[in-house]
Amino acid sequence: MAIPRFWRETPSRYNLFASKCGNCGEVHFPPRFVCPSCHRKSIGRMESIKLCGTGKILSYSVVHDAPEDFEMQKPYIIAIIEMKDGVRLTAPIIDCDEPDIGIGTEVEATFRKLGEEGKAGVIHYGYKFRRMNRTPPEK
Ligand SMILES: [Zn+2]
Repeated sequence: MAIPRFWRETPSRYNLFASKCGNCGEVHFPPRFVCPSCHRKSIGRMESIKLCGTGKILSYSVVHDAPEDFEMQKPYIIAIIEMKDGVRLTAPIIDCDEPDIGIGTEVEATFRKLGEEGKAGVIHYGYKFRRMNRTPPEK
């Protein structure tokens, strides 16, 4: 089976593409070409799937000290999110302040322009997450 073209041409982080092992059913993000559990048995059986884009916060921290070229408002929230598909990823949480979120808060992926490089004119996009509803955080 050929490697799907988009795996090479579009960074998976922009589209939340993951891989699913056809042998054990494990989902990996970012996508893998070989299942880390099944190794050889998974070759040719890896499927590309798109994550549903929703999940909940497992843990988070508030970043007050951002790198210089990190074009985000400080302070911002970085959270470990467990996606409904079973994978975990780390992403910024936007459109809310720290008191509004907590462990278990449901969030959804949203795509935002992160910044633009002056000379090359390259636009960076990436995923961020925002709260899905008004579930009170469990603290
Ligand atoms: Zn597997």
